[in-house]
Amino acid sequence: MIRFGPSGNSDSFYEQGYKSSVDMPEWLANMGLSAYEYQCSRGVNISESTARKLGENAWAKDIFLSVHAPYYINMASEEKEKREKSIGYVLDTLMAAKWMGAKRVVIHTGSVGKGNRDRAFKTAVSTLLETIRQADAMGYGDITLCPEVLGKMNQLGSLEEILEMCKLDERLIPTIDFGHLHARGLGALNSIDDFEKVIITIENAIGYDRLKNLHCHFSRVEFTAGGEKKHWRIFDDQYGPEFEYLAEVLIKKAMEPVIICESRNYMAEDALELKNIYENALTGVKKNGKESIGHKRA
Ligand SMILES: [Zn+2]
Repeated sequence: MIRFGPSGNSDSFYEQGYKSSVDMPEWLANMGLSAYEYQCSRGVNISESTARKLGENAWAKDIFLSVHAPYYINMASEEKEKREKSIGYVLDTLMAAKWMGAKRVVIHTGSVGKGNRDRAFKTAVSTLLETIRQADAMGYGDITLCPEVLGKMNQLGSLEEILEMCKLDERLIPTIDFGHLHARGLGALNSIDDFEKVIITIENAIGYDRLKNLHCHFSRVEFTAGGEKKHWRIFDDQYGPEFEYLAEVLIKKAMEPVIICESRNYMAEDALELKNIYENALTGVKKNGKESIGHKRA
């Protein structure tokens, strides 16, 4: 089944008096959501007991858990020590994921830095392979690593780079952040066709099974010549891309991805909005048959 959920905790969660992420699964289930990406983006600081409690609560409410690894990972660093630390951060995130029973860990693979892009990519690939080797040795082989498409030009993480990385091991699933893709392409996603081309590129690179179970991030993104600048809300429609277009392609390709919304401060509310857009598209397709695909509905 397709699942929708937030990246981290909405402001409203705290405004309602909640303090701990262990209460998120029930809060999300009550909203009608079914996924939750726990943020370790600033470091893996969760205790084992909290992680286990969060995992139990998620299991009880059928909330699919993923964990976002720290932002400061750089698998492409020229410095051996920084690469080794980066492997350590991924392993720490995997440990937290294991405690929670989370199935996926999202990773940023690194940046190009001042050097050559091709060389940075090769360095990142060898660091990623070493990470997978150590993760397997530590018993984390059942947790899926999901390298993410990133929004800034100087980051490793174009669609092509991420798909090449995912060819290294058939267990890897890409995190396709459509806001990042839009920003990186300086506003590249403007129609159903634009989204379909991306989806077909993914399918051709790694096959339908992984495409079907894709990990996705979605939010509206403001960008500059350097790429991603800021995430906006689903209602801020002066910024793209439009989820309606992606929803049509997801339905056409019978995909069952996890869709994580990264709208600032209102991620759960906007995840629900994405779910509503998807369900409206689904109803439209059922009502109108294939005729409806190719048209944007109000
Ligand atoms: Zn990310």
